[in-house]
Amino acid sequence: MRRLFVPAELWREPRAVVDGDAHRHLARVLRARAGDTLTLFDGRGREVDAVVVAVERERTTLALGAPRTAAPAAGARLVLLQSLARGERMDWIVQKTTELGVAEIIPVAAERSVARVPAREAPARRARWEKIAREAARQCGRADVPTIGEPAALAAALQHWRDEKREDAGVAAFVLWEGSQGRPLRAALAADTRAVTLLVGPEGGFTDAEVALAQSSGFQVAGLGPRILRVETAAVVAVALAQFATGGLD
Ligand code: SAM
Repeated sequence: MRRLFVPAELWREPRAVVDGDAHRHLARVLRARAGDTLTLFDGRGREVDAVVVAVERERTTLALGAPRTAAPAAGARLVLLQSLARGERMDWIVQKTTELGVAEIIPVAAERSVARVPAREAPARRARWEKIAREAARQCGRADVPTIGEPAALAAALQHWRDEKREDAGVAAFVLWEGSQGRPLRAALAADTRAVTLLVGPEGGFTDAEVALAQSSGFQVAGLGPRILRVETAAVVAVALAQFATGGLD
């Protein structure tokens, strides 16, 4: 079924008029015609069936059915604290971990992060990652889109995580460290874990002090095997392992 992200605000009436990216996708990519059917999703877990009424030069009119809430995804709620990675690697990480069902991605600047996001560029970079996440959600059939956090310094992100963290057994947090004598992530993950936070380092890896800070914030050190994985590989493997262990790939 053809799918399209349309913000919930446009679902209020039995007819929705879309322009901009949504219209261009319908008109130019899907080459939509009157009578064609598709599914809209609002990025917050709701879907609605739609029929194309008219495709005009700058806009498309859709007739909407009754909205429904998509079935919640199985597996733990996954949060990825991702150290900024160079170039397109970050885009790739956002796309692949969205496909794998991550619920939230928080870009963090670690000491050895080569890639930096100056404050004035942060809103545009975040908007770009949000667009990539929406497109990945559209392609993989998700009705929700992961939240992309404001890029933050690692210490601030850990402080925020500590402030947010509820003291319940169902939450587990891991700092992925290739130097770790820690347990392999596979062994450290319990099937009944309801929420997993994964902290992945930059190209140059974490400093010992950063690993200690994560541990003092309640993160366990975990390994992904004897080989040094690239940042983007480590992010995808860690998310896939957490999904596998908690039933999110069933
Ligand atoms: N510091 C390393 C080096 O250059 O020698 C490489 C860091 S690695 C490219 C980037 C990040 O991926 C690490 O900070 C860590 O979070 C994760 N990572 C890569 N391989 C790993 C492994 N075998 N076990 C645990 N984490 C790993």
